[in-house]
Amino acid sequence: VPEGHTIHRIARQHHDVFAGRPVRVTSPQGRFADGAALLDGRVLEEVEALGKHLFYRFGHRILHVHLGLVGTFQLFHEPAPPPSAGTRLAMRANGAAAYLSGPMVCGLIDPGTEDEIRADLGPDPLAGGTREEFAAALGRKSMPAGAALLDQKVIAGVGNVYRAEALFLCGIHPNRPARTLTDAQVACLWQTIVAHMGEGARRGRIVTVEDAADDERLYVYRRGGLACRRCGAELRAWTLGGRTITACPDCQPA
Ligand SMILES: [Zn+2]
Repeated sequence: VPEGHTIHRIARQHHDVFAGRPVRVTSPQGRFADGAALLDGRVLEEVEALGKHLFYRFGHRILHVHLGLVGTFQLFHEPAPPPSAGTRLAMRANGAAAYLSGPMVCGLIDPGTEDEIRADLGPDPLAGGTREEFAAALGRKSMPAGAALLDQKVIAGVGNVYRAEALFLCGIHPNRPARTLTDAQVACLWQTIVAHMGEGARRGRIVTVEDAADDERLYVYRRGGLACRRCGAELRAWTLGGRTITACPDCQPA
């Protein structure tokens, strides 16, 4: 599942390649044919990400994309390979082609709808969100901190990898009620997420163990049953907020 840093990287790449020029827009699959016809040949002014949402501005028409669980964007230099039959959207300009497959959302919206989507999202660490907004949102939640970090109204863009890693790095048990976190713990979570999502956006992958080899880059994510990299205790995994979380019983005491 793409986390916010991946979405911001896509937005930046697509803005650099396609913005400021007319773009050919088609729907090889056909499911976005009407929308594609309205955008085809128009100038793409700007691409912006907020949380896991992408907004492509063509004047008052905005293409809204959310990749969801299985959606992917592929970017090619021309000549690009032919799009697969499942390609919902193809954009071409400036010697490049982007193909979108399997998105949860691919549709046209107006600026008012974009405002509603934005108003419904919590602070995005990669788009000017603030620690104060994050602290206020957490303070309203009695749910476990591990579930609150997946709530896009609390913080936009965090997914299953960053929530597990940030809770570990800050020594917070995932089941701890969000509103009972101390100011120092909230500050640690925000700073950790800001630093690592920024690094992920630059490097294109998720890294929390500094200078680690590829197979040793995460502390806890998907490491249930293995030894903690810090203390050697056996990491535990359970379901929280509908997804599997892993934590260290010693480094993250209840
Ligand atoms: Zn440990």
